[in-house]
Amino acid sequence: MANPKKIKVLYIEDDTDVRMLVRKVLDKKGSFHYMEASTGLSGLEIAIKEKPRLIIMDIDLPDIRGDELTTKIKNTQALKDTVIIALSGVREQNIREKVLVAGAAGYIKKPIDVAKFPDQILRFLAGDKEVVEQEEKEYYHEQYELSIVDRLTHKVQELEISNQRLESTSQNLARNIKSFQNMLGSISALQSCQNPAEFKKILVQEIARNFGFERCAFLDVNHENMSLEVKYAQGIAQKDWGRYTYPVTSPAIQQFFKENQIIQIQKVEEVKEPLLKSFLDELKTRQFVFAYLGTPIGQVQSTEIREGVLPLLESFLPSLHDREDMDIDIILGNLEEYLSSESLYRAGFLFMDHQGTGREIDDNEIRFLETLIRTASYMYQNISLMEQLRFLFIKAEKEAITDPLTNLYNYRYFIHQLNREISRAQRHHSIFSLIMIDIDYFKNYNDAYGHQSGDLILQRIARSMVENTRNSDMVCRYGGEEFCVICPELSRGDAKKMAEKLRQIVEKLELPQIETVPGGKLTISSGIASFPEDGDTAYQLILNADRALYRAKATGRNKVCAIIDET
Ligand code: GH3
Ligand code: MG
Ligand code: MG
Repeated sequence: MANPKKIKVLYIEDDTDVRMLVRKVLDKKGSFHYMEASTGLSGLEIAIKEKPRLIIMDIDLPDIRGDELTTKIKNTQALKDTVIIALSGVREQNIREKVLVAGAAGYIKKPIDVAKFPDQILRFLAGDKEVVEQEEKEYYHEQYELSIVDRLTHKVQELEISNQRLESTSQNLARNIKSFQNMLGSISALQSCQNPAEFKKILVQEIARNFGFERCAFLDVNHENMSLEVKYAQGIAQKDWGRYTYPVTSPAIQQFFKENQIIQIQKVEEVKEPLLKSFLDELKTRQFVFAYLGTPIGQVQSTEIREGVLPLLESFLPSLHDREDMDIDIILGNLEEYLSSESLYRAGFLFMDHQGTGREIDDNEIRFLETLIRTASYMYQNISLMEQLRFLFIKAEKEAITDPLTNLYNYRYFIHQLNREISRAQRHHSIFSLIMIDIDYFKNYNDAYGHQSGDLILQRIARSMVENTRNSDMVCRYGGEEFCVICPELSRGDAKKMAEKLRQIVEKLELPQIETVPGGKLTISSGIASFPEDGDTAYQLILNADRALYRAKATGRNKVCAIIDET
């Protein structure tokens, strides 16, 4: 039977240990009739039955929230005067406030202070709100401190993060500066390249060195068999270059031509195209970069070429000895053809990786590499254009002074060189001789074998004359079947010997026999004039050599005459 003097206390708590503690504390005090429940709802049942003066409840119950239970108790008519004290270690202010709002007299924090606990309860029962206020004050104060600590901790964390960011930014910056300097270094190395071949080689060296790639290969487009072939490489032995070939016609490559791009493959397994796959298998790569050196092919207008290239041509012209000889239109025509050819735009491809070290390819470096390759692509286009211009000039220059049939110097150049030789000999008080050569009865050859065979004979004789004269001698085609040789430093007598040698060589050439010519074989006649005795102008020298030649013809052909022989 309950002692009526004792205060009925119901403790609702799911934690057995805490229940045991509270029971001990209250039993020891002796003024309490202690009851307990382990769930909210069983507690409510006991409360309705026993009508305790005081309910102490844990806020954090397994079956019902503390505030809900408080509301239920307060709405139960028989329990409306029961004092409810929340007991909890739950930090959330919300639930505590809700419990208070629901009608609890106050709360006591866990862990309980064993010594004070019974008195705290008694004061609640006496309606001593001070305890509550004091508790609340302490609570809010504690919360405030906690929030400050929280905020400060948060701030410190933020600072740490921004510090780390700053540090990584400055590291990045330092890295970027290094990459940037490397890139500029590479560009200036490329700028000093003289021709496309050197450019490709230097590009490979620069990329391997500045971007630290273990392997870097330049894959040139071989237009004959339409395949990519290793032309220059670092990190791959030259004997192995031939092993790595790849068809230009593959879709992957065609895509590159259109887009002028650089790709980084992180996992080689992701490459699905069979051709590319076998190429990469051969290279035994795991992660690589593939880049296209070239520019997209655009429509080039011929007027643009003329406007853009003519000033360039002008800059070449002073180095040429005879401006009038150059046919600018022919050069421009060739240039237009070249500008629309793919070789100008499609330089080739670069393959890069870290095969052995397995080092990851850095994203940041890739950005710099991309810039370098784009810049290099345009530089390459310019250098190719310059090279082509140089080539066209040399070709045009040669064409301007060459006879197309015999490949000898032409009449125009002969006159030019004869005048130069006169000036030179005058300056140095030296001598030279001019030999004028004409094929005997050549008309008969044409008549017998046809004009085209006649042309072949002209070519054969031209070749044998070049082969049997000194490098300093200039063999020219004067016109038709007539030739001239300018022989620097040669006296009339020596020139005669030389002409005689040529006469004999021609006579011995194995050429078609001909019945309509005396002797049945092809022969030549020569006339010689020497500077300064036989003339000190081109006109005089040619006239006198021609006279001597005429005399050789008139006196039987297949012979050499000098102008002096006349007298
Ligand atoms: P000769 O000099 O001994 O008096 O007799 P020729 O028959 O050589 O003399 P002519 O000057 O009368 O004829 C030169 C011939 O050379 C005329 C032409 O049929 C031939 N000829 C000139 N230029 C060429 C050429 O470029 N190709 C060929 N196939 N024949 C040429
Ligand atoms: Mg003739
Ligand atoms: Mg002749």
